[in-house]
Amino acid sequence: MSDPAAARIPLAERMPSLLDGRRLGLATAALAVLALLLWLAALQLPDGQLHVAFLDIGQGDAIFITAPDGRQVLVDGGPSPTQLAEALGQQMPFWDHSIDLVVLTHPDDDHMMGLIPLFDRYRVAQALTGRETLSAEEALFWRQAVEAAGVPLAVAEQGMQIALGGEAWLEVLHPGAALLCAAAAADNNCSVVLRLVHGETAFLLTGDLEAAGEQALLASGQPLAAQVLKVSHHGSGGGTTSEFLQAVAPHIAVIQVGSNNRFGHPASETLERLAAAGVQVLRTDQQGTIEIISNGRQLRVRTAKHPPQG
Ligand SMILES: [Zn+2]
Repeated sequence: MSDPAAARIPLAERMPSLLDGRRLGLATAALAVLALLLWLAALQLPDGQLHVAFLDIGQGDAIFITAPDGRQVLVDGGPSPTQLAEALGQQMPFWDHSIDLVVLTHPDDDHMMGLIPLFDRYRVAQALTGRETLSAEEALFWRQAVEAAGVPLAVAEQGMQIALGGEAWLEVLHPGAALLCAAAAADNNCSVVLRLVHGETAFLLTGDLEAAGEQALLASGQPLAAQVLKVSHHGSGGGTTSEFLQAVAPHIAVIQVGSNNRFGHPASETLERLAAAGVQVLRTDQQGTIEIISNGRQLRVRTAKHPPQG
């Protein structure tokens, strides 16, 4: 008998005897192409899950969402176009130059500046921001960039729902119609607040909301529960009140913050409130980009640096 190992030779290696030389060449090439396509497909989204990447872009917010069927949303762009381009390059395939929706939560530099050249670099299908940002002086260059690129700009209104496909959607929870922010355009409390839902899982993205905005949300009676809370205002002491935390009841809190930032974010009292509520805290200054993946029932966390503890 021959070597018993021969019986274990994969089918593909036994097949050549069945083919003539020319066909073998073509078949090998076809297999190689197929293998490459499968390999690319394995690396690529969409994969039927919701991916939320809290990008490591220094002191500021930038959140890149890939919906289960592949639609892409960017919420804020951080302070620097260079850092944003680099971080997005790690999330998107190199040939992908389109984004379905870009949201600006409010016109502060640490959320807005990275977005300004984005409208030249990517084909953006839709932009969304709060009513206050439409007239805020701070947002003039941002609005000009949106307009120059011919991107339609919609106003985020409480109650709006945006279907992302694959049973994922965004709910606009804030700002409401009659709110404290009418007079102060760039107020943190006017931040667009989004609840991203996929199946039984939810993410609450709070911009730079402070206690007054949290109170307005609590008073609105809208569902706030979310397994993942993007901690508002980089973990400053003025937000993430105990009452708000109780209503959201998150398992994971993500703080988007630059290391050794001049604001002293996150505040120790915010970290203490999160610890007291038993919430796992992930920070972009410590973990780098934080990606949370939802299959509609469970969450998985992937971090660029130091795996999270506990
Ligand atoms: Zn901010």
